[in-house]
Amino acid sequence: MGSRGSNARTVLVATGVINNRPKGLGDVLHTRALAEGLLRYCPICDAYEVTDTRVAVIGSGAHGTREAIFLRGYTADLTLISPEAEHELDPQCMAELDKAGIARIDGPCGNYAIEDSQLAFDTTAGRLRFDSVYPALGSRVRSELAAEAGAVTSADGCLVVDSHQRTNVPGLFAAGDVVKGLDQISHAMGEGGVAATTIRNYLSELAPLRR
Ligand SMILES: Cc1cc2nc3c(=O)[nH]c(=O)nc-3n(C[C@H](O)[C@H](O)[C@H](O)COP(=O)(O)OP(=O)(O)OC[C@H]3O[C@@H](n4cnc5c(N)ncnc54)[C@H](O)[C@@H]3O)c2cc1C
Repeated sequence: MGSRGSNARTVLVATGVINNRPKGLGDVLHTRALAEGLLRYCPICDAYEVTDTRVAVIGSGAHGTREAIFLRGYTADLTLISPEAEHELDPQCMAELDKAGIARIDGPCGNYAIEDSQLAFDTTAGRLRFDSVYPALGSRVRSELAAEAGAVTSADGCLVVDSHQRTNVPGLFAAGDVVKGLDQISHAMGEGGVAATTIRNYLSELAPLRR
């Protein structure tokens, strides 16, 4: 930052996250499946749209279980499919899935295609088709820039900020998905508003803002 000779007194980082995609799902198919609602990444955002349809979650472990249990509130036709190998589920996850009646299929899975308006792929239980598929494979938080500038990150790579969106580096602020918290547009915008106000006040402390 500032290496080309222009120094900013404040920087607001809003670099977001990248969701991990199922392996072997190419860009063209990924874009089309997203556009057609066959592939989804945010149950909190759009699970109501899959009400009573046939849904798969690609994932395993505690994360996959949490996502599947959340989606169970919208559909009973739900399958948790491990992406690459056998499921890694502790007894508590298995008990929760059993109690909710969520089917499980071990990995690997792949060879994705859109077939008859559904997303189809090979699994260890044969080729299956779903109205919607939610990958629960985690995400990569784009906090490297801020971290390089010295900002503290949480264990999962999110930037740690105070209630005014300040990182630990003076003048460096962060908002949105790159910050630990709810990954939602309204939340990101709210944080952006808080950051903008804090930045304005910070600048006026550095030098009075006068016309
Ligand atoms: C498929 C999908 C559907 C979603 N649906 C909803 C929904 O219905 N409702 C809802 O509230 N939320 C939804 N979300 C979540 C929502 O998109 C995010 O919460 C929101 O976009 C976060 O805003 P942001 O500005 O923090 O990050 P982003 O919108 O991700 O923006 C970050 C930007 O920073 C850029 N960037 C990153 N690194 C660099 C760099 N080094 N240099 C320059 N630029 C960089 C990126 O290219 C990107 O443009 C959805 C997310 C996904 C993936």
